[in-house]
Amino acid sequence: MQVHQVTWRHRNDYSAIMGCEHCGHQQHHGGLYADAYFAFCIIPNRYYCDKCDLNSLGEKRPESDRTMTGELQAKSLKSVHDPPKDSRE
Ligand SMILES: [Zn+2]
Repeated sequence: MQVHQVTWRHRNDYSAIMGCEHCGHQQHHGGLYADAYFAFCIIPNRYYCDKCDLNSLGEKRPESDRTMTGELQAKSLKSVHDPPKDSRE
């Protein structure tokens, strides 16, 4: 995912609309941090597209990495009609 538009910022914390390099899907993320480590190490590795499940490096989202953002919880609340097939609760 890459940052398209910052929607909120306070000191180094920010929220932004992020876009997927692979499918073009855009989603909102909070809890972002404005420093080089976060931008070059965390975002490319740890932020996955909700649509194609790939990160910037083209790696598929692992099962164990479904807890990173509130975005995922919001998604699971919205998707009661279409629950994720790998839900293991
Ligand atoms: Zn995508």
